[in-house]
Amino acid sequence: MRKLTAPLLALSVLVATAVTAQDSIPYLTGKVTISIHQGTLDCDLTLKNYPHIGDYLIRLNSGMNIRYFRSVQPDFKIYYDRSLTDSTATDETNGYSFPADPKQGGKFLPQAIRFRYTGKYPVITDTALSGEVSVDDWRGNIAFNGTTFRADGLQSCWYPVLYNIKTKQRYDHLKYDLEVDCPDCKVIYINGTTPVSGPHARLHSDVPRELFIYAGDIMVVNSGGSNFLNADLDQTHLRSFTKTTEDIKHFYESRMKVPITDTVTYVQANPTAPNHAWAFIAFPSIINVGFGKYALNSYADPRENDWLVQTVSHELGHYYFGTLRRFTTWFEPVLNEGLAEFLALNVLHSIRTDSGYQKAIARKIKAMKDFKPLPFARLTSSQGFHDRELYVYYFAPLVYLAIQKEIGEKATWEWMHQLLTMPADRTDYGFLEATLGKALGDPARLATLKAKYFDSDEALGNAIQTLNPAPKTP
Ligand SMILES: [Zn+2]
Repeated sequence: MRKLTAPLLALSVLVATAVTAQDSIPYLTGKVTISIHQGTLDCDLTLKNYPHIGDYLIRLNSGMNIRYFRSVQPDFKIYYDRSLTDSTATDETNGYSFPADPKQGGKFLPQAIRFRYTGKYPVITDTALSGEVSVDDWRGNIAFNGTTFRADGLQSCWYPVLYNIKTKQRYDHLKYDLEVDCPDCKVIYINGTTPVSGPHARLHSDVPRELFIYAGDIMVVNSGGSNFLNADLDQTHLRSFTKTTEDIKHFYESRMKVPITDTVTYVQANPTAPNHAWAFIAFPSIINVGFGKYALNSYADPRENDWLVQTVSHELGHYYFGTLRRFTTWFEPVLNEGLAEFLALNVLHSIRTDSGYQKAIARKIKAMKDFKPLPFARLTSSQGFHDRELYVYYFAPLVYLAIQKEIGEKATWEWMHQLLTMPADRTDYGFLEATLGKALGDPARLATLKAKYFDSDEALGNAIQTLNPAPKTP
């Protein structure tokens, strides 16, 4: 712990008057200065409009050197602690907090915080060779490769990310209004805005975004409503990506009755370690990192790739469930992820082949052969998932698909509409049941479906039986 001085003595009073807004979306403003050639990131950022959290940390990339943290209202520099126990899965970050009272302990969270910090990172230009490269590159890496700068918003914490220790909630999706200065950049892009040509950009979003940032020597192509950054696709691939993206959007718009206004942006980036390749999504950006045969222009043709279609569809599905409708409570992933996956399987069935769809279902059933999920109605906490991955991405979408098969298309999309729009303070299991009840308008039918899929120990078996009935034996 750092030594506490005068301003902190008044802080116990301030704690009582600190922010009280519930579930507000943080807003980030300020200036980011980047040097592609020096590998530096200089930030002067102010974070405000976050919820009051008693036990919190503010995560920042561990490569950032702190100049100061400053309370904006009232205005004073803040002494800070750095957690020695906070650890993200990939360990890129430090967790900071502001001690409230040296004697009584506790933490102080001002109404708005100004952060000034600088990071300097290796510039790895010879990644095609095996010389002075790094041993690893990964999603949360802050990567300078001599021509571009890349940083994600989920793991790297290049910007301050508030973290609620008790609920484990990360506030990494922010509204923002940022000025970016990068004298050696040709293009500057922050997730969710239009890429800007030139060394300066003012980027603003009223939609909360994960702040994936990509800047430098970037070629931008806009084709059929999608953006492609350094994708280097030939006309055939470009048409294929564009058409697939439009087909997915069209499917959603025709069923959900709400158009997707986001521009999907495909990003190709070169890694700073040879033989490393992976893809990740920061909606509405889809990022591929890899050389040669792992580059976007060589491996991924949506015409032949069900996985790609399903992945893009899942992420676009989060435009509805996760963006327009933000679920609360621990039940959230059963709705958020389960419904996005349900939508993605529907898209796969609609715009690809029936066999591809059946294979995707069969893979899910196979993965759950030793899984005994509790039914939705009998969960009392997220502990009940046992295996979160299997529960929300495998079990939940199969339950939704089985109900879809039982109630038909019209009632299913009415149900989705209710899930999207029905007013609710708590979006828990009761909310899910209420939306289905409203869509059906038939309490007896609801009771039957509830008993079979929401409240039965055999919910998974019932869903599998409905989706894939065993052939009748004579
Ligand atoms: Zn998802």
